[in-house]
Amino acid sequence: MKKVLVTGGTGLVGKALQDVIKNEQPSDEEWFFAGSKDADLTNLVATQALFEKVKPTHVIHLAAMVGGLFHNMNNNLDFLRNNLLINDHVLQTAHELGCTKVVSCLSTCIFPDKTSYPIDETMVHNGPPHVSNYGYSYAKRLIDIQNHAYHDKYGHLYTSVIPCNIFGPHDNYKPDVSHVIPGMINRMHKLRTEQPEIPETEKVFTVYGSGKPLRQFIYSLDLAKLMIWVLRNYNSVEPIVLSVDESAEVTIYEVAEAIAKAFNFKGKLICDTSKADGQYKKTASNAKLRSLLPDFKFTDFKTAIEASVLWYMINYDQARN
Ligand code: NDP
Repeated sequence: MKKVLVTGGTGLVGKALQDVIKNEQPSDEEWFFAGSKDADLTNLVATQALFEKVKPTHVIHLAAMVGGLFHNMNNNLDFLRNNLLINDHVLQTAHELGCTKVVSCLSTCIFPDKTSYPIDETMVHNGPPHVSNYGYSYAKRLIDIQNHAYHDKYGHLYTSVIPCNIFGPHDNYKPDVSHVIPGMINRMHKLRTEQPEIPETEKVFTVYGSGKPLRQFIYSLDLAKLMIWVLRNYNSVEPIVLSVDESAEVTIYEVAEAIAKAFNFKGKLICDTSKADGQYKKTASNAKLRSLLPDFKFTDFKTAIEASVLWYMINYDQARN
């Protein structure tokens, strides 16, 4: 019997894992989803107490200080320190309690700023990250270094996945913290519901930045399925990119259009070029994933946006606004 502890089990990806596992009901696995109320993982004693209580054989390590471009730009020190602490406590405690496998989460936004495209798993450490999120990036990159060090010293199979941008139900919609998709969903909802006396055709939705940057987005439920596959079947310390195909890359303006359509928004979209764009692109190759799992079907982007917007409208009162 495997006992799987999911740190960060209450967040966007954690909730998606909960959904997939609930439908699968595996008979040889017991899953425990921990949030920060179960243990503050920046605290070593609390981390150890959580592991002593759950006694996991396997860990999916999602817990992190996470945020969008603007939150990162203003808080690099906190992103660095909190994530360094969380990762060190989780990996060392997993080691001390004899966990067989740990799958941690990196991100495509930690790759070098100056690089060739597409980026792949071999390029994580090839140069400094974008200045906007260097705290988060270096803390995340060190997970890969730690995984190799645990393997070299103890032979452990502690590995990592590299997702592209994630979105879906249970995202973080708080304006100062959110990533681009939940941020736009929140603002579009406000624009539509506030000032009902103004006809919607006269309302204007502002896209932050030029709208031109390109991004790959993965639906959280697709990512959850892939992470479960990694936990069960991927047996290498080397990271693996979990991303949609390169052909599925979209511009930020196209994201805004998809969200507007999902809300049935009748007003106009404009771009505010005085706001930062972040990296122009960070196209990632999923060739390694495709070589191992060629038939995986990603949910169509517009369909996933519609499902995410619908979830937000239905669950507005409980969402992280
Ligand atoms: P969320 O912000 O939705 O969730 C973060 C999770 O971490 C929550 O469960 C939160 O617990 C937990 N957490 C945060 N701080 C602590 C702490 N000090 N102690 C214990 N738990 C803590 O993040 P996502 O689900 O979006 O991200 C999951 C992983 O994926 C992260 O490692 C992130 O870096 C990575 N990632 C995310 C991307 C994205 O676009 N969202 C892109 C690529 C990678 P609680 O809510 O209970 O406070």
